[in-house]
Amino acid sequence: MKRAHLLFGLIFPVISIFFFLTGCEKKKKPELLAGKIKGVPFNQVQVTDNFFSKRIETNRTVTIPAIFKKCEETGTIDNFAIAGGLKEGDYKGVYPFNDTDVYKTIEAASYSLAVHPDAELDKYLDGLIELIAAAQEDDGYLYTARTTNAKSVKWPLGRRWGNEKDNSHELYNMGHLYEAAVAHYYATGKHSLLDIALKNAELLCDTFGPGRLQTAPGHQVIEMGLVKLYQATGEEKFWKLAKFFLDIRGPGGEEYKQTHKKIIDQDEAVGHAVRAVYMYSAMADIAALTNDQEYLNALDKLWDNLVTKKMYITGGIGSNPSNEGFGPNYDLPNMSAYCETCASIGNIFFNQRMFLLYGDAKYIDVLERTLYNALLSGISLDGKLFFYPNPLASRGQHTRSEWFVCACCTGNIARCIASVPGYIYAHTDNSIYINLFVAGRTKVKLGDNIVQVTQQTNYPWDGMVKVILEPERSEEFTVLIRIPGWAANEPLTGDLYSYIDAGDQQLSLKLNGTPTSFDIEKGFVRIRRQWEKSDIVELNLPMPIRRVAANNLVEADRGRIALQRGPVVYCVEWPDVDDGGVLNLLLPADAPLQSEYRPDLLGGVTVIKAKAASYDFLKGRQEKNFVAIPYYAWAHRGPGEMAVWLAAEESALEPLGSPTVAEKSSVSSSVKGIGIEALNDRLEPAGSSDSSVPVFSFWPQKGSMEWVEYDFPQIYEPSIVDVYWLMDEDNAPPESWKIQFKEGDQWKDVWTTGVYGLETGKFNRVIFETVRTNALRLEIKMKDGFSAGIYEWRVK
Ligand SMILES: [Zn+2]
Repeated sequence: MKRAHLLFGLIFPVISIFFFLTGCEKKKKPELLAGKIKGVPFNQVQVTDNFFSKRIETNRTVTIPAIFKKCEETGTIDNFAIAGGLKEGDYKGVYPFNDTDVYKTIEAASYSLAVHPDAELDKYLDGLIELIAAAQEDDGYLYTARTTNAKSVKWPLGRRWGNEKDNSHELYNMGHLYEAAVAHYYATGKHSLLDIALKNAELLCDTFGPGRLQTAPGHQVIEMGLVKLYQATGEEKFWKLAKFFLDIRGPGGEEYKQTHKKIIDQDEAVGHAVRAVYMYSAMADIAALTNDQEYLNALDKLWDNLVTKKMYITGGIGSNPSNEGFGPNYDLPNMSAYCETCASIGNIFFNQRMFLLYGDAKYIDVLERTLYNALLSGISLDGKLFFYPNPLASRGQHTRSEWFVCACCTGNIARCIASVPGYIYAHTDNSIYINLFVAGRTKVKLGDNIVQVTQQTNYPWDGMVKVILEPERSEEFTVLIRIPGWAANEPLTGDLYSYIDAGDQQLSLKLNGTPTSFDIEKGFVRIRRQWEKSDIVELNLPMPIRRVAANNLVEADRGRIALQRGPVVYCVEWPDVDDGGVLNLLLPADAPLQSEYRPDLLGGVTVIKAKAASYDFLKGRQEKNFVAIPYYAWAHRGPGEMAVWLAAEESALEPLGSPTVAEKSSVSSSVKGIGIEALNDRLEPAGSSDSSVPVFSFWPQKGSMEWVEYDFPQIYEPSIVDVYWLMDEDNAPPESWKIQFKEGDQWKDVWTTGVYGLETGKFNRVIFETVRTNALRLEIKMKDGFSAGIYEWRVK
């Protein structure tokens, strides 16, 4: 009834502010708007703001060229030339999915070309596409690792598709190829890459499906790629194959790959986070095409679980480094938070698609939170360095890198940033959605009318948003402006996070200068009226600094608070406290907080200034001034402490243990693993399966001989080591281990009558005859079928 009134009323009714509560909405079935709402594509949106426009420009001029250069240097581009017989050599790289680094960056470059013509870049892409065409086999198969008979790849490739369900990533490569091909086609109008993709997709249609090969993709993304091919060509068999790939998942497989249950029976976000959100995105794509109620039910449950139990305040997802994925409900440790950049990107894809299904702002709330925080943390302000995991606390062990052996996040963030303008607006035949607040303009086609929409705002630092509407022809339609959850006293749907302070919300709206009351539905102010040229809506979203508390079930955040202002989540970093100590800061509940814009700091940021109590081991409690910066801008001023969640109670303070020579050492290992800093970070686990502190693992190596090494800054005389083993699904204490020391160029065993312990839940100490050396090695023979992991390796 209310909806009808709103839709047909010429002037929207004067009703007191009503904040949407999903708790109430859950009971009635949400209205499905699939197919009715369309995003306004990024190439029709001009961004002129001071926040994203410079990032998009840096992405174009720095990041995309830098990634292509790395792909050249690492042999990733040569792999195509070698596969195509244009060059001699062996496949370079340990992963068979390196092809996707090129595809994702072509996709990013295409988005960039679409809004910023660049003949040189266009030509460079043509050159790459020639190499890709050469690498494609006659029947359409395209996978350089097998075509070059790669020896360096760490997983057995077996026969074609034979290892797809585990880790060959053949379909993963092809999925990213399709996304790149469609982007390149839209951007340039050229068929060159699209033809390669279509030839490949024909092969897939002939190979997989009912009565053919029934293999669930080992790493999802082919499903989204196939839907994009369908959207570009209208060929229905492509989305039907995507649905087939979704429907054959599970039951009885692994949670890690989301094959543990049929997808329509899945109700909890589990396993590898990137795989999960790529799959949910594809499910939403298929639901939009089919209105399949079972898909929709599963999506609603999965989204609800993800957002109300498994998401960080930054919008990051995937708390567990050992599976690069989800832990149990409320398991959100901060220092070991994985929050892979790719998972943030997938979370943005997923929430955009959920919005297009339902037209509910709660999905854009998640998208916005992820975009401004977890995602942007993934790349340095200069566009040159990347984070793979994005933790919420640090002792200085985390720094961004130029590149990774597994470089998935780099091309992925480049394509995501290039497409940001595409998330700002959406429309139906008779309404315009303003989802994100970004200064700039667009033209939206409503039937045979065209409406120019201009936004003037200094978001995210200021919540004043002026929207100017200029229809070519005066007409009655609806404008829906999102009221962010953060402004409506609800940081996120559900009770995972809440504001501690009451907050005197006084958001206000003016229509052509006149204050106007308004109603909010599904998180949007709906204004239906006869719009005239140059009508102006002014929305004022006050941005007080808010203290956020986590649900008490989140153990890592108990006794702590986080600071948020507008959509931006803050952290305290070492340069902004005079002794660099952040983890020993206590922010009293009544400490006043002040915001201040600093144009010269970190590209221009609003900071939060406050006084905290600092706890020093020797000096006791002291008063300390500190400045909090936006989380996305951390790790630009050298390594040191950082925390998003600040202690609000003494129990949450983290005193450090006593130092050893280990943390003065540089660490290396026989594998190029991530997180080797865990060995000497002085963080002691509560047990051998504690996921709240960082741990290093040789995974995916199993059963082999491996080592880790400390190189001391000078000659040292160690005689004691303590080792804490990891125990989980993939890792167990090794079959045996020993300590070696370096003498000249030789590694020699230390002499001991002690036992090399294999116990879990404690440090295993070995005392040996003192050696004089500048390096120690811990050599491990892993158990058959298991990897090994180490939380901490102390040396005295
Ligand atoms: Zn990644």
